[in-house]
Amino acid sequence: VKDERTKEEILNKRKNTIGSTCQIFYSDNPFMVSRASMQYLYDENGKRFLDCISNVQHVGHCHPTVVEAISKQLATSTCNVRFVSTQLADCAEQLLKTLPGLDTILFCNSGSEANDLALRLARDYTKHHDAIVIEHAYHGHVTTTMEMSPYKFDHGSSLSQPEWVHVAPCPDVYRGKHRLEDSELRNAEKLYEAGKQYSNDVQEILKNVEEKNRGVAAYFAEALQSCGGQVIPPKDYFKDVASHVRSHGGLIVIDEVQTGFGRIGSKYWAHQLYDDGFIPDIVTMGKPMGNGFPVSAVATRKEIADALGGSVGYFNTYGGNPVACAAVISVMKVVREENLLAHSQKMGEELEVALNELKQKHESIGDIRGVGLFWGIDLVKSRDSREPDQRLALDVILELRQKYGILLNADGPYTNILKIKPPLCFDKSNVLETVSALDQVLTHFNR
Ligand code: PMP
Repeated sequence: VKDERTKEEILNKRKNTIGSTCQIFYSDNPFMVSRASMQYLYDENGKRFLDCISNVQHVGHCHPTVVEAISKQLATSTCNVRFVSTQLADCAEQLLKTLPGLDTILFCNSGSEANDLALRLARDYTKHHDAIVIEHAYHGHVTTTMEMSPYKFDHGSSLSQPEWVHVAPCPDVYRGKHRLEDSELRNAEKLYEAGKQYSNDVQEILKNVEEKNRGVAAYFAEALQSCGGQVIPPKDYFKDVASHVRSHGGLIVIDEVQTGFGRIGSKYWAHQLYDDGFIPDIVTMGKPMGNGFPVSAVATRKEIADALGGSVGYFNTYGGNPVACAAVISVMKVVREENLLAHSQKMGEELEVALNELKQKHESIGDIRGVGLFWGIDLVKSRDSREPDQRLALDVILELRQKYGILLNADGPYTNILKIKPPLCFDKSNVLETVSALDQVLTHFNR
């Protein structure tokens, strides 16, 4: 039966029942989804929109293989992990095949939970307490992860940076502490030098922490920073950081909640981007893993997992339930069968060419950066000053939706970075459509 209620009625109901601080896209004119399919969303009137926002629906909204796997398992059993299920064991085994050097999985339900558990593991294993995080980082909404997220505690929440959290400069060569000139942004030698400067900053923090008689349990970072501004750290940065942190007795946690499962194209995980043998001690994952079904996990080594405090153990009512695991197994199957890594890489190459052309044409584009289907377009008021242009980013987003039927979001510490991170089925015609619309919109704004 068709639901005849209007968007206004539903919005009113939402306003009266849901906390006012729950964020919503396009707050002036929110988008109501009537249905979703692959890389498209349909509004309340059935109008189709190209979705460049939803990295969670990784292999495509309502992908039939995933829907079937979830439905089948839902009708078979939903028992928790205290019962033995084939799904749990198979899922863990398949995940570990993509993560050489790690041998143990613990399942949770959200990225926040996974990062919270990663911190607990690191603390119990190292017997240290502190964490180093990167400027602008976001690691989740639970209290501990909020306390580890400058993206949140720097923005007027009641939380402030606790004593046990230390913030390292973001290894951003465009906007960060150690910047490169425009002409140097792709220069391997200059990138290497900047990477060294950023890893030395981490070493400095480690020394300061020790001088205060404290110890770092874990250094946390996304392999490529997403909410914090679509940042790609220079090659060798993580390897150097890892050697510093480990020499002080800490562990390396890489948050792949946004970037895993082939988003970057060439590799299954973004920390494998440089193919340099860098292996974190702990990897956390979430979002794309269940294609929209809530599931997340922590991957680590057995000795770290086994160090979890005393007799308390680890039990999570829904973490690793067979329906969630069936979802993950089916996502991995689609990634394999539809060659989505190769496809994502190819689309990344197409985007690089098209966005570079766009940058030549529009002064408002200060930088473009990305790999696979993970791109950021950094909008500036002037290329010389690199001053972020939030107003333009917000105007562009509205225009793209209204005139071109394209959904795109802006993020980063100054909300000036247009983010392209669509479901991986995004194809070449979608790339061309998006870049051409961006071209027209920037021309329309004379920028
Ligand atoms: N880590 C990163 C990098 C994220 O982007 C997010 C969510 N935006 C989280 C952790 C938290 O995940 P969740 O919302 O599933 O708790």
